[in-house]
Amino acid sequence: MQSTMQDVPLLVSRILRHGSTIHGRARVTTWTGEDEPHRRSFADVGARSAQLAHALRELGTGEGDVVATLMWNNAEHLETYLAVPSMGAVLHTLNLRLPTSQISWIINHAPDRVILVNGTLLPLLAAVLPACDTVEHVVVVGPGDRTVLDGCRPAVHDYEELIAGRPTGYDWPELDERRPAALCYTSGTTGDPKGVVYSHRSVYLHSMQVNTRESFGLSWQDTVMPVVPMFHVNAWGLPHAAFMSGASMLMPDRFLQPAPLAQMIESERPTVAGAVPSIWSGLLAEIDANPRDVSSMAQVIIGGSACPPVLMQAFQERHRVRVVHAWGMTEMSPLGCVSHPPGGLDEDAEWAYREKQGRFPAGVEARLIGPDGEEMPHDGVAAGELEVRGPWVASAYHGGRDGEPSRPEDKFRDGWLRTGDIGTISPDGYLVLTDRAKDVIKSGGEWISSVELENLLMAHPDVVEAAVVAVPDDRWGERPLATVVLREGAAPDFAALRLFLAERLPRWQLPERWVAVDAVPKTSVGKFDKKVIRRSHANGELD
Ligand code: ADP
Repeated sequence: MQSTMQDVPLLVSRILRHGSTIHGRARVTTWTGEDEPHRRSFADVGARSAQLAHALRELGTGEGDVVATLMWNNAEHLETYLAVPSMGAVLHTLNLRLPTSQISWIINHAPDRVILVNGTLLPLLAAVLPACDTVEHVVVVGPGDRTVLDGCRPAVHDYEELIAGRPTGYDWPELDERRPAALCYTSGTTGDPKGVVYSHRSVYLHSMQVNTRESFGLSWQDTVMPVVPMFHVNAWGLPHAAFMSGASMLMPDRFLQPAPLAQMIESERPTVAGAVPSIWSGLLAEIDANPRDVSSMAQVIIGGSACPPVLMQAFQERHRVRVVHAWGMTEMSPLGCVSHPPGGLDEDAEWAYREKQGRFPAGVEARLIGPDGEEMPHDGVAAGELEVRGPWVASAYHGGRDGEPSRPEDKFRDGWLRTGDIGTISPDGYLVLTDRAKDVIKSGGEWISSVELENLLMAHPDVVEAAVVAVPDDRWGERPLATVVLREGAAPDFAALRLFLAERLPRWQLPERWVAVDAVPKTSVGKFDKKVIRRSHANGELD
């Protein structure tokens, strides 16, 4: 027997066509920092995407060519997201917070032929370009000092001039759904960054998953605000999912500080927003000090690193905002799981579920591998390294312009992706992560969870942020060192913090080494940078 179903390729161009017609009246609003934000309908975004595709084709962009963006979250970035893959080229989102040497390395590795850049980021591009030899065209989006590119090799164009007057329709090619659509590099915390190449099929299926109720459940009644940058795993899939579901979008552009974020939430009233914990703890401090009505946010998605339970509770109790914890990674497009509790629970039991990393959806299979390579049971107790597979999970890394895709042994095993995360899975499919394998503290043959220590410390009223790392110890191999950011005016009383932990944890897990810091160093995507902490505080101070 043969299947009798149609074989329609799952393409980004189908998302584009659907969003710009059926949901043509949905809007993308970009914050400008001025009185009025900039508003554009999905219909216009679709028309301008077609114009951009015509322009890029005229610049010589063909199938498989890599077109990069060095951009904030805004309407033009959305147009690029849709136009580039739909025409058969590959969208490469550059992380503008990486060191310049790493950005140039990534541009050469991809290799990028065209770069679209926000005018405000031109000084960064000017610093990066001299080390890049593949870029032929730079397209500048929005105002900025273009003279900084004087003398650079690539031709420089203006986005609006380039697309003006071109046809607002495009005969999008009927591509193979397994062709590359987008390229995103991990932030390279260990070694060179690694490129993940999403296919049209993986983007499409992932977007459908994002739109289910077990994930973010977007619909045309929503306005979604991706605070997570569009260079961080496709803003968690929110732009594609919004275009698919007709959810309007609120784009913060470069206004990512707590005060403008609070202002745009109050005035534009998004219903869903997503970002890493450090962004939300900044916003919480801001709205605690200068109250704003942020209660339009029915769902604030926090992921990218473990969400401190105290942060979830504070948003709910003080600002009537429900925080939803999610887990994912660049190699997974990024979802992952999302923590919606099962129904019929009392409040305490519900909180216990909401603090977990989430429940696996049908598209992601998971297994736990123990220290001797054996598969561990999903009983909510046995811990192991998490491995995953599914249609939007990477099976290799991009080889770059000269290489074949690579499958390093520490990342891929028998068709599974090794996440490097340690955790447990309950029989009903909820994941709890205790640590990243490289961050767990191995003390005298036992494991101490740095995340658990951090979450407990951040629940102390004097602590704003806490990051715990392993430091070498002659007797135990490793011991925890806690770095804490104290609330303004609080005295560094580490003995009291230790006592606070002692009420909740066994003695052998308590840190003896403590450091008060002004701020916890963060990575380019706003996570605690434990590599830097380990380097700066190898010894700490014994309490
Ligand atoms: P990078 O590896 O550069 O940080 P990713 O953004 O892909 O890039 O990070 C994925 C990792 O982030 C996961 O493997 C996990 O360790 C961590 N992570 C993401 N979400 C969560 C979460 N909700 N809780 C704990 N860790 C998380």
